[in-house]
Amino acid sequence: MTLIIGNQYEEKGAKAVDEKDGDLTENLQMEGSVDTSKEGTYEIVYKVSDTKGNEATKKRVIIVLAEEIKARTGTDGQPGVIYLTFDDGPSTNITPKILDILKRKNVKATFFILNYGTEGEALVKREVAEGHTVGIHGYSHDYKTIYQSVDAYMNNITKLQDKIKASTGYNATITRFPGGSSNTISRNYCQGIMTRLCREVLNRGYKYFDWNVSSGDAGDVSTSQGVYNSVVKGLSKSKANVVLMHDFSGNTKTLNALESIIDYGIQNGYTFSNITESTPMVTHRPNN
Ligand code: ZN
Repeated sequence: MTLIIGNQYEEKGAKAVDEKDGDLTENLQMEGSVDTSKEGTYEIVYKVSDTKGNEATKKRVIIVLAEEIKARTGTDGQPGVIYLTFDDGPSTNITPKILDILKRKNVKATFFILNYGTEGEALVKREVAEGHTVGIHGYSHDYKTIYQSVDAYMNNITKLQDKIKASTGYNATITRFPGGSSNTISRNYCQGIMTRLCREVLNRGYKYFDWNVSSGDAGDVSTSQGVYNSVVKGLSKSKANVVLMHDFSGNTKTLNALESIIDYGIQNGYTFSNITESTPMVTHRPNN
C-alpha cells in the first residue's frame, strides 16, 4: 500500500490457515514497523509455523510518499494505457467516492451509465464537469426488454442519450452493451441480435466498447483484494487496457481497491485515459 507522509498506517493484519492445523491466525508473528513521518519503503513481515514446524512468511510493502503521486495521461490506444470503466452507475453511495479518488489521482475514466434520478443527475453532471467520459450502457439493463429487437435496443440507447443531453448538454456517443457484445443471454430473446446490433450501433454513429481486463466485481470476486488481483493480473504493457469495473450501489470492494489499482499502474509505468470517439474500439465477438 502507499501512504502520504503524516497519514496513519492502519495495520490490516493477515490470516493464516493450515491444511491440518486449521486456523493459525492467532499464532501469527509480526515483524517490522512503518514510520509515516519519513519517506521510504517499509516492510511488515507476517510469520507463522504449524505444529510440525513448517514455516510460512508473507510480507506487506508499505510505501510512504512525500506527496500524492498523480497519474500520467496516456494517448489514445497506445500500449500501456489503462482505460478504467465503470458500469451500472451512477450510485449515490459509491460513485461520488470513486470520483473523489479519480480527482485526487488525476485519472480520467469512463462511466457507462444507466437511467438515473435527481441525485444521479448531479453525479452525471459531475462526471462531465470533471472531464470523464459518460458512456451509454442503456436506459434499462433488463436483457429481456432491451434485447427483444434491434428497435428495442436502439430506443434504449437514444432514450438515455436524450436524457443525458437534456441534463448536461453532453452528447454521449460511446456505448457498452449490457453483458458485453459477446453475451449469450440475448439470444434467448432474439436469436442473432448481437451480430445485427454491433453493425447497427456503428451505422448510427455510435461506438461500442467491451473490455480486455475484467475485475470480476459483478461476478465471483467478492473482496477488494480479489478485485485488485484480477485487474493487476490482466494488465499488460503491450495492449491498450480496457478495465471492466462497476460503480453500482454498495460495491465497496471495487471502491476500496481502486486507489491501489491506480497506484500499481502509476508505479509500473502505465498511463491513464478516458475513452473518446477517437479511441480504437476494443470489442469481443458476438456469440449468438
Ligand atoms: Zn451492466
